[in-house]
Amino acid sequence: MKLSIAQIAAACGGHVIGNADYIVNRLLIDSRSLFEADNTMFCALRTEAADGHRYIYNMYAQGVRAFLVDNMVCDAATFPEAAFVVVESVEQAIYSIAMQARAALEHVCFIGITGSVGKTVIKEQLFQALRGQVRIQRSPRSWNSRLGVALSITELQPDIDYAIIEVGIDRAGYMQRLAQLVRPAIGVFMPITEEHAAGFSSIEQKAQEKALLFAGCRQVVSVGSPQLHAAYVQAPVIQVETNEEAVAAVAQLLGVTPAADVFAPSNRIDVREGVNDCVILFDQFTPDYRSLLSALDFMRRRSTSTRSNTVILSEVFGADSAAVLNMLYRFGINRVITIGSEAYANAPSTIALQHAASVSQFLATFDANRFSSETILIFGRGLQPVKDMLAVPRHDSIMEVNLDALVHNFNYYRSLLRPTTGLVAMVKASAYGVGAIEVAKTLQAQGAAMLAVAVIEEGIELRRGGISMPIVVLNPVTGNYKALFDNRLEPSVFSMRELSTLLDAAHSCGVDCFNAHIKLDTGMHRVGFVESELPQLITTLQSARGIRVASIFSHLATADCPDMNDYTELQLTTFQRMSQAIVDALPYPVKRHILNTAGIMRYPEYQYDMVRLGIGLYGVSPLDSMPGDLRPVATLRSTIISIKHWPAGTTIGYGRRGRLSRPSVIATIPIGYADGINRHLGRGAASFVVRGAECPTVGNICMDQCMIDITDVPTAAIGDPVEIYGPQMPVQRLAATLDTIPYELLTAVSPRIHRIYFRE
Ligand SMILES: *Cc1c(COP(=O)(O)O)cnc(C)c1O
Repeated sequence: MKLSIAQIAAACGGHVIGNADYIVNRLLIDSRSLFEADNTMFCALRTEAADGHRYIYNMYAQGVRAFLVDNMVCDAATFPEAAFVVVESVEQAIYSIAMQARAALEHVCFIGITGSVGKTVIKEQLFQALRGQVRIQRSPRSWNSRLGVALSITELQPDIDYAIIEVGIDRAGYMQRLAQLVRPAIGVFMPITEEHAAGFSSIEQKAQEKALLFAGCRQVVSVGSPQLHAAYVQAPVIQVETNEEAVAAVAQLLGVTPAADVFAPSNRIDVREGVNDCVILFDQFTPDYRSLLSALDFMRRRSTSTRSNTVILSEVFGADSAAVLNMLYRFGINRVITIGSEAYANAPSTIALQHAASVSQFLATFDANRFSSETILIFGRGLQPVKDMLAVPRHDSIMEVNLDALVHNFNYYRSLLRPTTGLVAMVKASAYGVGAIEVAKTLQAQGAAMLAVAVIEEGIELRRGGISMPIVVLNPVTGNYKALFDNRLEPSVFSMRELSTLLDAAHSCGVDCFNAHIKLDTGMHRVGFVESELPQLITTLQSARGIRVASIFSHLATADCPDMNDYTELQLTTFQRMSQAIVDALPYPVKRHILNTAGIMRYPEYQYDMVRLGIGLYGVSPLDSMPGDLRPVATLRSTIISIKHWPAGTTIGYGRRGRLSRPSVIATIPIGYADGINRHLGRGAASFVVRGAECPTVGNICMDQCMIDITDVPTAAIGDPVEIYGPQMPVQRLAATLDTIPYELLTAVSPRIHRIYFRE
């Protein structure tokens, strides 16, 4: 698209502040995806997860000069070169802008795709078949949501003849407007299935709603579901069975011969652990310039300061090598290996360029040990052997960490608090066992106020992983104060003795000013200043130089025990009194916090300036009576590696402690007490989930393996996943079996279990 700020404002009924002549070529909704600042308009969407208005300053600093906002949260004078379009709803406005962009494309023939399954695959196959024959663009990846469709349209260039747009809807009532936006001349109707049926009253209603996309089509190619499709499509229908036939039918309508080399792309970028601490990102999507941009964007979100960035690529369809190199350069890629297609000349000097004539030449000349601590994007066709060389084999037992669930939980607690209350995310003990760096990165992006770790080493690990936000160290007593200051870690201070050591250490390290957090003991009776120490503490704080009290805090002993509310309330009033004395004595503002997860849920009126969110972040409610709207973050999973049938009376495992009372089918899974599976979960005390069914443990848990009874799951097979805990088996249940708390189970999973992070 190419629209001026004035045209955009007219299209969406907004008003302009700033330069109305500025030209916008693209819309950006996720600040992390910024690639070219010039002519980009940042759209400050508000979603459940985030408020785009918070990123305006950051986007301006990166050169963005056009903003679509629903509220002038900022002073336009702070952004002298920017143009703002102020609208009622940013999401609505994006749709209106897309309508305007669509109006400028009357010469383009639109091909609209919808249906329940296979939309992205057929879209890519059509694109592959047609891209050599006609000037054509298609929606990127699977941008098929309402917003995705609108954004896809704004990405179209005027010099094309065809556009393929994929449209997905998950409930009735949405298609009409999208149909008016896309206005396809040719339709491709993919099969209608029962999947995602919640937003529809019946499969017929779903077919009818989806068919609205084709209202103005001159021809519709229907794949599968012949009766359903025919019942609701008005336009002439060409019925086919397979994607190949659909591609041929569309090509024929366009009067061109489709390319022969068409393949089904995989939309998921496979993230794998690589050799020598590498991370492998394997992308098997249609390899063109636009897909490379998305893959690099995905890669950028995963890169860390400890790994360099490498791209291994084969042919990029229809791309100009200078443009590809420029893009790689702008994404900060350090090393590029091209395979097959000629090596790119004139690479910027920051990129180390290497070349292999073919995949087999690559395998012959590049030793896996020449890769180390790199994030490696493998992009293009035919590179499976390259991935196999660089990835380590999959682990049979893993912990899967759902970062979207983490964000969901974070936002859930945020919704219980005042908007100005800071959230301190507890990432001690490797973020309750799920892995501190990925969690910290995610929460840093979500706007957590601070992170809390237990010991200095945990803080250093986060800094090495590229975490820049404030980090408080709860138990800093190690003597290694130099590392503490060097890494900008903020100590918590809980005794006079520690305070004076800290002040001395700051002095000898030449630190003029550092933040510290004062811990008060209001009733936990673990560590912290008690009331009688306050006068001495205050005098010291008033006279000491260098120390700045960033916050005062205390910890509740009984926030999760409703039968001890008296005690909790006593702690809360003690905290108010003690912290007030310090606040009053210091000449600068000092923040205060006392609530943990259970405290947030039960005593939100005591949120002060910040709260410390721990277990709730990980999707576990500390209160049985208040489950909260939480989603489990960690899934501990193993795999069936052996299945055996035994007659009744057989004994299983060490000490013959599993005695079969019936003919049984016993599966072995490679996870044991050395991985954190407590031995008390053996001998049937716990069950793990196979194909949705709970299968009890049999016999004693071994060090590296254990056995489960799968007699009642006749379809179970070797290779089946086994959920130890996760969405199907709440960790609380296992904790109850062991008479302990979920915290202990989460943090007990040994480091040898690999943590795999994903977003849905
Ligand atoms: C661990 C911890 C928390 C978090 O407690 P949750 O019950 O996990 O929310 C809060 N404050 C301090 C001082 C802690 O050590």
